[in-house]
Amino acid sequence: MTARLTIEPKLFTALVTGLAERGQGRRESGAFLLTDRAHPEDQLPQPVTRIAFYDDLDPHCLTGRIDFHAVGYTALQNLCRRGELRVAGDIHTHPTDRVQQSRIDAEHPMVARDGHVALIAPRFAAEVTDVSQIGVHVLADAGWTSFYGDRAAEVVLIDTRTGRSTSWWRRLLARLPIWHRHQETR
Ligand SMILES: [Zn+2]
Repeated sequence: MTARLTIEPKLFTALVTGLAERGQGRRESGAFLLTDRAHPEDQLPQPVTRIAFYDDLDPHCLTGRIDFHAVGYTALQNLCRRGELRVAGDIHTHPTDRVQQSRIDAEHPMVARDGHVALIAPRFAAEVTDVSQIGVHVLADAGWTSFYGDRAAEVVLIDTRTGRSTSWWRRLLARLPIWHRHQETR
């Protein structure tokens, strides 16, 4: 199974903790998962480098369910432009153990683009510690493929090496010691 997204443990914890806090155990909450625009779109996995909570973009969107308005999409666009970021996926919470998509979830994706990954966390994300608890839904050819349990954890990988450390300039820097060694042998 090819991983679609990778996320650092610290960022994953911040994500589920933030979702649980914002949902207050009584309403759904959500966030966009962003990656660096410098990371090629066709190169999997996409490292999640930043989170944008829905209610930070649109303060009135948490109505029990999620009603994300145009103002939120404008704020998202501005954030992506300023930070040179791109949306790679999203996550929202459900009140029960059910991490399958509702009909509305499936028919109205937050971003309707091939390769988009939509995550659903159970019980307002209150007890989530691992991706295997989350429903992972991947959009391709206008249809969704869903992954659960261990397979979900393979599609969205919690990885310590994720994030900016995998960006192109870090990889470039990683080559420098080789060059230094080369110099020393002369
Ligand atoms: Zn839903």
